[in-house]
Amino acid sequence: MREQLEAVVDELRRLRAEGTTQIFVSEDTLERLRAAVAAQGGAATVEAEPEAGAEEYVEPAYVEPTKPSAPVRKASAPASNSAAGLRWDGQPIAPIPAPSVITLPKGSKDEQMNWLRERVLTCEVCNAHLRPGRKLVFGVGTPEAEIFFCGEGPGADEEQQGEPFVGPAGQLLTKIIQAMGLSREKVYIGNVMKWRPEMPTEWGNREPTPEEVAFSLPFLRAQLDIVKPKVIVALGNTAVIALLGLDPETKMKDYRGKWHEFNGVPLMFTYHPSYLLRNTALSVKRQVWENMLLVMERAGLPISEKQRGFFLGRQ
Ligand code: URA
Repeated sequence: MREQLEAVVDELRRLRAEGTTQIFVSEDTLERLRAAVAAQGGAATVEAEPEAGAEEYVEPAYVEPTKPSAPVRKASAPASNSAAGLRWDGQPIAPIPAPSVITLPKGSKDEQMNWLRERVLTCEVCNAHLRPGRKLVFGVGTPEAEIFFCGEGPGADEEQQGEPFVGPAGQLLTKIIQAMGLSREKVYIGNVMKWRPEMPTEWGNREPTPEEVAFSLPFLRAQLDIVKPKVIVALGNTAVIALLGLDPETKMKDYRGKWHEFNGVPLMFTYHPSYLLRNTALSVKRQVWENMLLVMERAGLPISEKQRGFFLGRQ
C-alpha cells in the first residue's frame, strides 16, 4: 500500500509541475485514501475542501502526522527550509546552512571521485539530516562514463543500501540503461540530494526544499566536473530545475524531450522512471525511449533497427 500512496503523491506532484492547479476526486476515492492512510498509521496526506456539488477540490498536501487536525500544507516542496516540517522523531528539521565551495584536488578521475565521495560521506550537515542507521547516497558507476543520469534524491531503498536508484524506479532505470546497450557500471548515476529529505513518516518522499537543493548542488556539480560526460540525462523535474536553475513554476512539458545545456554539456530532460511505473501507457514508454535514442545518438552509441523500434507498433 505504501507504494500506491507514494504513487498518488508523485502523480499529484507531476500534475502540479505540469501546471495543473485543481483536480477533482470522488468521495469514494477520498474515503479509500483516508482508509489507506489510516492503515499506515499516519494522518491524511490529502484533505478535502468541500466545494459546491458532489465533487471536492483536493490539492497536493504535506501534513504532519503528529498534528492530524493541523491545516494542510500546500506544497510538497516548501518554499523555505524553515517550513520543511518535522522529521521522523517529531523534531523540526534543522536549518540548512549556505552551500560550501568545493575545490577538487588535482589527480586522476578515480582519485578525484574518491576524494569527493569521502567529502560527502563525512559531510556533517549531510549526516545530521540522516535517519539513524541509514546511509548517504553518493553515486555509482564509472567516472569515465559518457552518460550521466541524474535523479532527485534517495528514497527508502536507496538510503538503506547507500546506492542510488535501487528501488522499483531504479530497477526500471537499470532496464532502460540495459536497453541502450549499456550497464550501470558503464554509466554514472547520481542524484541532486545525497540524503533522503527527512519525513515524519517512514514511508513516502517529499521534494527537497530550495535550501536542501542549494546545499547539495555543489556536490553534484563536482561529480559532473569529474566525469565530464558527453551527455547528461536529467530524470524528473527536481534534477532539471536544479541543474538548469529553472524557476520551479516552469511548465515542465515545454522542457521535456528537448536538448538543453549544463556548463556546455548537452542535457536531455525526460520523465523520472517512477512516473513510468505509474503511467504504463506504451506512448509514454515510447516518449522516454525516443529521448534515450537521442541521447544514444549524441553519445555516439550504435543503435540497431531493433532498438529504434522499441515500444512501437504494439498499441
Ligand atoms: N529516485 C531518485 O530520484 N533517485 C534515486 O536514487 C531513487 C529514486
